[in-house]
Amino acid sequence: MEIIVFRLGHRLPRDERITTHVCLVARAFGANSVIYSGQKDHSLEKSVQGVVGSWGGKFSIAHENSPIERLEKLKKAGYSIIHLTVYGMPLPEKENAIRNAEKAVVVVGGEKVPTEVYHMADFNIAVGSQPHSEVAALAVTLDRIMGGQELERSFESNFRGNISLEPAEKGKKIKKK
Ligand code: SAM
Repeated sequence: MEIIVFRLGHRLPRDERITTHVCLVARAFGANSVIYSGQKDHSLEKSVQGVVGSWGGKFSIAHENSPIERLEKLKKAGYSIIHLTVYGMPLPEKENAIRNAEKAVVVVGGEKVPTEVYHMADFNIAVGSQPHSEVAALAVTLDRIMGGQELERSFESNFRGNISLEPAEKGKKIKKK
């Protein structure tokens, strides 16, 4: 399944770290790319591209000035729109339906999410019934979509970066090309 993560409403300086973590989790847990809206952030893009340069894979990041229009275009292009929100339906009740999608956009909010997103979403999904974090919500959702493959040792073959790690019981085993 092709997965795009869509981060709405990036705010500077407030969201600098958390949007970076949204991107790192998206990449590490199987998404192909991230699109973010809100304030353009060159240093965010540089830092994510730096991780891809060192650790490998084809992950990309792009800014979008018109998120609603872009989400509508993605929906027309056949992507399932999965909006993560505490107000949504419990993830366990919808994860099979979500996994059947051929391609998906997983949307996380930052500042108040526009009502249109709730209406255009194919799935409004709650990851637990309490408000927490876009990073945690994304991580759990990607893990359910991927069926845990992203945690297996073999998943590393998707990256083949200049830097990679050998799992170690103790200490660190870092491999550099
Ligand atoms: N308006 C708040 C703010 O000022 O930052 C939004 C914060 S909330 C932590 C940001 C995002 O986290 C939400 O838009 C949603 O995507 C995600 N989120 C938080 N708790 C969630 C939950 N229980 N289930 C699904 N997504 C959740």
